[in-house]
Amino acid sequence: MGSAIIRRSITRYLNHPSLLSSSSSWCLSQQQHARVSNPLSSFLHTKTSGGGAALPSYMRGAVYWEPNKPLTIEEFNMPRPKAGELLIKTKACGVCHSDLHVLKGEIPFSSPCVVGHEITGEVVEHGPLSDPKIIERLPLGSRVVGSFIMPCGNCSYCSKGHDDLCEDFFAYNRAKGTLYDGETRLFLRGSGKPVFMYSMGGLAEYCVVPANALCVLPKALPYSESAILGCAVFTAYGAMAHAAEVRPGDSVAVIGTGGVGSSCLQIARAFGASDIIAVDVQDEKLQKAKTFGATHTINSTKEDPIQKIIEITGGKGVDVAVEALGKPQTFAQCTQSVKDGGKAVMIGLAQAGSVGEMDINRLVRRKIQIIGSYGGRARQDLPKLMRLAESGIFNLEHAVSRRYTFEEAAKAFQDLNQGNIVGRAVIDIN
Ligand SMILES: [Zn+2]
Ligand SMILES: [Zn+2]
Repeated sequence: MGSAIIRRSITRYLNHPSLLSSSSSWCLSQQQHARVSNPLSSFLHTKTSGGGAALPSYMRGAVYWEPNKPLTIEEFNMPRPKAGELLIKTKACGVCHSDLHVLKGEIPFSSPCVVGHEITGEVVEHGPLSDPKIIERLPLGSRVVGSFIMPCGNCSYCSKGHDDLCEDFFAYNRAKGTLYDGETRLFLRGSGKPVFMYSMGGLAEYCVVPANALCVLPKALPYSESAILGCAVFTAYGAMAHAAEVRPGDSVAVIGTGGVGSSCLQIARAFGASDIIAVDVQDEKLQKAKTFGATHTINSTKEDPIQKIIEITGGKGVDVAVEALGKPQTFAQCTQSVKDGGKAVMIGLAQAGSVGEMDINRLVRRKIQIIGSYGGRARQDLPKLMRLAESGIFNLEHAVSRRYTFEEAAKAFQDLNQGNIVGRAVIDIN
């Protein structure tokens, strides 16, 4: 064993922070352990985690290098969480269009990076000097779900509960590919080259996640299917609860019924929407949409979706239309499908620079509301999503249509790119 283990009480740990080197970390098991780093082999050790299970000194992660090049699986030094962060042994990671936008260079992001932003996993380590309340809420061995928006908890938005607008998340993670001290937690084994993180960099055997993005996953819910709670379902919930504020009896149209769109159908049903209209270009997806709650389906290659939606709603249009594709054409369809005073909610990310158009006079005279929505509010919404899934109101098994192994990660994104995934795919990692 390359490192010495010293047992200390939590009180002594709090009173003696100076004993810690910056690279040391804390594993609070029944008998709290402090690992004193060995200067000769800071990473070539095997350290002890909760319950005595040994963590390896390195891990594998899937790396994006440049646009349109396949992901490669590389070895990394074992990532180390800092204060307020946790090391998660990743169990599953969802396959999302936002990652695909990055992989295709459609949305610029720091590279090389590890993508993957909807995960489940097990807590294996807490960062040093973490608030004891975090350790109490998420003890070692906890089963957890991570949301793609990782709220800092302290910025002007987070302090008002608007976790979905967290300033640090956008300024550091989305703009720079780091966590909130401006640094990544990922370094290639051997060269030590830094690799950036898209959200937590979940397409890896381990990932570092800020505590505010994590919620305990109930025992009744499986690791694989539950991964989609952190983006697809989280995004759908944010759109329906906060942007659209769907009420029982509302009519809702969802344009684009992939992973997020089909989750919107299920959430609309859960919120008591009456007419739920699914719009897509593939009959197979529309057929599946009915199992998610769609009361009507429209294949927009065969029928004009706007006319059809207006016809279904007795000439008025829907209370809420959701655009889940991020294309100028569907943006326009979304705004034209809503009734006077209705809400057109945009959740599909587009290629950078895309512009949506709207008839200004209709917008003004008929009080059309166009609302952007990016995810949910992690601290408030994730626990509610767990309850919706646990009670079966949101059916996770229906939502996940395909599973891949970690080694098949590149193929999973190829299949997504070719439109071969109905619903959501998940990559099983550990
Ligand atoms: Zn996503
Ligand atoms: Zn914040």
